[in-house]
Amino acid sequence: MMAACDEVYSSLHGKFKGDLLRPGQHAYEEARGIWNGMFVRTPGLIARCADVKDIQSAVRAASQRGLLTAVRCGGHSLAGFSTCDGGMVIDLSKLRQVTVDPDARRARFAGGCLLGSIDTATQNARLVFPSGVVSHTGASGLVLGGGTGWLTRRFGLSCDNVEAFSLVTSDGSIVRANAEENPDLFWALRGGGGNFGVVTEFQVKLHPLTSVVLAEGLTGEAGIRPLLELWRDFMAEAPLDLKWNINLRLAPQSHKVPAKLRGRPVASSSLVWTGNPDAGRPHLERALAMCDADSVTSEVVSFLNLQTMADSDFPHGRRYYTKSGYFQYLDNGSIDHLMATLATIPSPETMIELAYLGGAASHIPAGETAFGDRSAPFVITLLANWAEASADPLHISWVRGLFEQLRPAMKPGVYVNFMSGDEQDRVTEAYQERWERMVAVKSHYDPENFFRLNQNVPPRKNGAKERIGKLSRNGK
Ligand SMILES: Cc1cc2nc3c(=O)[nH]c(=O)nc-3n(C[C@H](O)[C@H](O)[C@H](O)COP(=O)(O)OP(=O)(O)OC[C@H]3O[C@@H](n4cnc5c(N)ncnc54)[C@H](O)[C@@H]3O)c2cc1C
Repeated sequence: MMAACDEVYSSLHGKFKGDLLRPGQHAYEEARGIWNGMFVRTPGLIARCADVKDIQSAVRAASQRGLLTAVRCGGHSLAGFSTCDGGMVIDLSKLRQVTVDPDARRARFAGGCLLGSIDTATQNARLVFPSGVVSHTGASGLVLGGGTGWLTRRFGLSCDNVEAFSLVTSDGSIVRANAEENPDLFWALRGGGGNFGVVTEFQVKLHPLTSVVLAEGLTGEAGIRPLLELWRDFMAEAPLDLKWNINLRLAPQSHKVPAKLRGRPVASSSLVWTGNPDAGRPHLERALAMCDADSVTSEVVSFLNLQTMADSDFPHGRRYYTKSGYFQYLDNGSIDHLMATLATIPSPETMIELAYLGGAASHIPAGETAFGDRSAPFVITLLANWAEASADPLHISWVRGLFEQLRPAMKPGVYVNFMSGDEQDRVTEAYQERWERMVAVKSHYDPENFFRLNQNVPPRKNGAKERIGKLSRNGK
């Protein structure tokens, strides 16, 4: 691989406008790190592109020589896909332009943007793009996998709000995908992850919103079961304006937490109301009645505050391991498993995240995008978060153990962006009846599987470019 890497470096050197970073160079050390500290890799070359031409040159040079290549936007892949040993990383961090057209309620953003840069630019026009909940997450990886966040119930998934993509495919061509041009690719890019090329620009719809009501509260151990029972039934009837996430965890040792709850198992509720605050009050009060009165807060916050409030909970460089799945209904047996395992949670930063989707995301027909299951509203994500490599077995086995217990009651399916790197056997499960169409699109646009550091959809016949047949267009 080193020989191929040297050749790619030589072919780019001189014409590449961005930075070509190699091991031993000062800037390389910082550039090689990704968010999940479990993945400390040594790429042979980091090609930090300055423009689309750089991306084309890097893709062409690497694909012609069969060099293993990772693509990095924000570097937040939980599975560690945005780096590699020995190969090349296409680093998009210089490409963070955002252009907003307030009258058309539309934005275009480049393939290296973080969520925060998009939020800041769109809020200047009092508009929002629905995305994720941590501002240092990369937009490309998030949107291509689907994209869930505080606004999913109101405005749909991030990928539901994309009108067009521009991308560089494995032969270095620039391709545009929207409802009219390359509609199969447009379908596949909305949920199919980084399988099809390097997206250089997203054109997206925006919505008016500048503030929300944010209500938070903690429920002590004895109240968690009744809270979860209320939540699962309440959310089934809740208005689109309400998002209610619950994290099961050990309460932080913070002055903001009532002393009696610190370090104890709790359910931490965060509710976001996007409509008129007065209309939201009865819904929020019903939920907050289940929380410890001393822990409850409720206030109107700016959208930018909402989008950055969790940033420090997920710092770069710690060790993270995850497993995720869907429930059609959160049954009592699964609640029993959650309660029993919560008592053994191995780190104060580890969380069992429970989200209820539904709403606008569930109104899009299943075949309209490649994104996985929209029918099962409950999403559970087990996210272990710790510091020492020596503790890997403890944390990983805790996640796997709880997941095995929950799995029988889950609905098959998984959101690709919440999968870890050891779950390649679940990628077909993520796409289910959409799998064959995904394979057909992949076989057409990336027949040699050049873009394979992702939740990978292998092409049908390695190396043979396939025509996309009419059958593949019916959403199956
Ligand atoms: C702290 C944190 C918070 C998160 N919160 C949310 C959330 O609220 N909602 C949610 O839905 N998800 C969330 N996620 C998951 C997130 O969607 C994924 O981790 C996603 O991959 C991050 O995108 P990235 O660009 O930072 O990833 P990267 O690590 O840069 O890349 C991940 C994958 O995307 C591909 N990719 C990246 N850029 C491009 C591009 N321009 N073109 C083609 N392929 C590309 C890469 O090849 C790779 O396979 C969160 C993750 C973290 C770590």
